[in-house]
Amino acid sequence: MHHRKPDELNAAQNALCESRECLEMAMEAGRLGIWEWRLDTGRITWSPTLERIHGLERGAFASTIEAYLRGIHPEDRDRVLDHIQQAIRERTEYRGEYRIIRPDGRIAWLEARGRLVAGPNGQPERMVGVCLDVTDRRQAEEALRDSESRLRAVVETAADGIITIDADGIIRTVNPAVERIFGYSADELIGHNVGILMPEPYRSEHDNYVKNFLRTGHAKIIGIGREVVGLRKDGKVIPLYLAVSETRIGDRRIFTGIVHDISDRKAAEEALARQAQELEQQARELARSNEELENFAGIVSHDLRSPLVTLAGCARLLEESPAALDPESRELIQTIRDSVEHLNELINSLLSYARAGSGELKVGPCDCEQVLQKVLVGLKVVLEANRAEVTHDPLPTICADAALMAQLFQNLIENGLKYHGQDPPRIHVSATAGAGEWVFSVRDNGIGIAPEDFPKVFEIFRRLHDDTSGYSGAGIGLATCKRIVERHGGRIWVESQPGQGATFFFAIPQQE
Ligand code: ADP
Repeated sequence: MHHRKPDELNAAQNALCESRECLEMAMEAGRLGIWEWRLDTGRITWSPTLERIHGLERGAFASTIEAYLRGIHPEDRDRVLDHIQQAIRERTEYRGEYRIIRPDGRIAWLEARGRLVAGPNGQPERMVGVCLDVTDRRQAEEALRDSESRLRAVVETAADGIITIDADGIIRTVNPAVERIFGYSADELIGHNVGILMPEPYRSEHDNYVKNFLRTGHAKIIGIGREVVGLRKDGKVIPLYLAVSETRIGDRRIFTGIVHDISDRKAAEEALARQAQELEQQARELARSNEELENFAGIVSHDLRSPLVTLAGCARLLEESPAALDPESRELIQTIRDSVEHLNELINSLLSYARAGSGELKVGPCDCEQVLQKVLVGLKVVLEANRAEVTHDPLPTICADAALMAQLFQNLIENGLKYHGQDPPRIHVSATAGAGEWVFSVRDNGIGIAPEDFPKVFEIFRRLHDDTSGYSGAGIGLATCKRIVERHGGRIWVESQPGQGATFFFAIPQQE
């Protein structure tokens, strides 16, 4: 018998240790563990790496099947047991993939394989195998599945159609929006040339276009996007916005088109254009009718005034005639003179209404305080007769047509005088600077206006009081005010309560 020398034995032992260490390092790096299960004693042996995979200290594994099963995720335990029993019963290889729960609570995925080894009597004696920590792979797979299903959800629910075609122009995928937009089912599209979604001549040009792009890289639409037309299954041509991008998968080229149905937008654009046209037409008509009104005002002032003057003159002559007139005739003559005066006022109102809307706007620095003073001088007699008082705060110099501003103040103050109650009229004018505008107010202590009538008072010929109420007028004054304010780019409104006076506001934009 050959006895090894101690040196030789040492060297052999050292070499064994080294290769064992190498193996352990390799197993560690590969997150691989080795196990052995003796069927007779039930004892399980784990390599140190397998203990580490389970998050256990070296030698901490209790070496029993119960300890092994305890470490497995409760949901996977039965399955693992089944697979092991099946392998023993049918003497086949054992394979399983399952979760374990580490002592620190972290979950890991293991892939296990085992094989039965027979004892000297030919009967299975033990099972040996490996265990691989596949947590990273499972997590990557899960993340991929996750992002895939998220992406699929986006594609499935997108309002825009998403089509992929290959380099031959053959449709590979379509999403439900494509089916909706074009009226085809996915089956009717996939595998067909994308040309079926285009009307002529684009259909015939498309193949050449793709070929040309592949050869020259010259893109008309790829990476750009533009408006195109599409052809629905029912033959209807629809406007679309199309953006195409190119993807390379290995050496294959895939084109993804995103189509957005812009029928609604187009229809809205057309409606808008139509509306603009109608508006333009209306503006032209308005200009014409304004012009007519101006002409009419001219006719009224000249042609209607002179017979009125004659009428008034005749009435006066009659009144002054030496022949004695009976009281009834005198009354008739007075009625004629009143009517003539009323008609005259009406003509004046109409004329100022026409002037407020037409003619050149002579905008310049307009000292409102001065304008108001002039108006008040003109109203002196009426103010005194009514025991009225008009007060005002300091008023600004604004950029406006002074003559029209005078008309505006005059109309508002006259109304304040006219629509008074029991007390003598008190009217107050003031102005405050707002955001980019001057807001003027003319407040009175008169009979007031019910809120539901606010919009009506600015309509022409609209009167809340007819002549039988004791308030005479033509219903033109506030309409003229509105015209003047609007010609200056401003707004006019009223705040009031019946019996509590009225405050008319108007805002004029501030200009440099
Ligand atoms: P008119 O005074 O000639 O009737 P306006 O256009 O000036 O016409 O006014 C329209 C209507 O608005 C008037 O009939 C009157 O009922 C009402 N109104 C105008 N100003 C006032 C006011 N300051 N207080 C009460 N009611 C007013």
